[in-house]
Amino acid sequence: MHPTHLSFAPKLIEWQRQHGRHHLPWQVADPYRVWLSEIMLQQTQVATVLDYYPRFIAAFPTVADLAAAGEDAVLGLWQGLGYYSRARNLHKAARQVMTEFGGRFPQTRTELERLCGVGRSTAAAIAAFAFQQRESILDGNVKRVLCRVWAQEGDPQSAAFTEQLWTLAESLLPENSADMPAYTQGLMDLGATVCKRSKPACGCCPLAADCRALAEDRVAELPRPKAPPKVTVLPLFWLCLSRTDGALWLEKRPAKGIWGGLWCVPCFESLHEMQQLAAACGVDERDLQEAETIRHRLTHRQLEITPFAARTDTTPERPGVWVLPQDLADYGLPKPLARYVSARVRAA
Ligand code: SF4
Repeated sequence: MHPTHLSFAPKLIEWQRQHGRHHLPWQVADPYRVWLSEIMLQQTQVATVLDYYPRFIAAFPTVADLAAAGEDAVLGLWQGLGYYSRARNLHKAARQVMTEFGGRFPQTRTELERLCGVGRSTAAAIAAFAFQQRESILDGNVKRVLCRVWAQEGDPQSAAFTEQLWTLAESLLPENSADMPAYTQGLMDLGATVCKRSKPACGCCPLAADCRALAEDRVAELPRPKAPPKVTVLPLFWLCLSRTDGALWLEKRPAKGIWGGLWCVPCFESLHEMQQLAAACGVDERDLQEAETIRHRLTHRQLEITPFAARTDTTPERPGVWVLPQDLADYGLPKPLARYVSARVRAA
């Protein structure tokens, strides 16, 4: 085996023990806590997760508590973290643990992969941290480290190249399974804090002596950049109906699609449909107060939302609820709506 392969794990483990991140609240051998943190960390920075994670654990200390909770309670605590399908899957997976696994977390990567929202890398992280299994993670950060150390030029979006990286990652695992938590944390920490996408700190990298990208002065070009996603613009119109007592009319979004499962004001792709609902609630078109357009970027879509506020005491004839301002915190709202509502409350 190549010397870089042999020294990779020992160097990383030693570096993690000295310089890596310790004392994170989820660095415990409890699969529930590890799983929760892994899902939260998927598209979110550690600093943000450190804010959300303790509240989530306080509300749902065990997987049984999470499984027994209502979806709105889960989405409410997730509000602001984005990518809400993660929260819905989390809730479904907690129920799977209770029904399919008798309330005990599965211990192998392949069984963990059966849980909703748990892919191969997340399953490997749980298996490694909670059960010291010799399974490799391969998230975006790890792909970057491997592509640089081995000067790999493949397209990170291609399935065939990703398969090659899995094989490489698995060949690097430490011999001793007791080292798996430190090794896995080391991979995560190195990618997040040293081998960063731009301006990596090669001067303090434990792998610098073996890194081909560094030796060949190709750090900036590896891994090959992803093709940017095609973004389409979607105009939306919100009808923000409020009652005399200040209650806001909210409707639950369908489970699939934008803001799935969250609570939102009536939202339309057509201005005309928005006006029709306003008229049905006795609001004259001239009494609709148009606010500044809100621009909100999702992965593949740029939302251009124009809110229209109106006062009415007529309850719309469609599913929804009137929610008083002091009760809004109990409802998971899309981020741009939460911002809009709090700006209005401040301005009132
Ligand atoms: S030497 Fe630089 S490019 Fe290579 S792995 Fe370390 S931080 Fe990344």
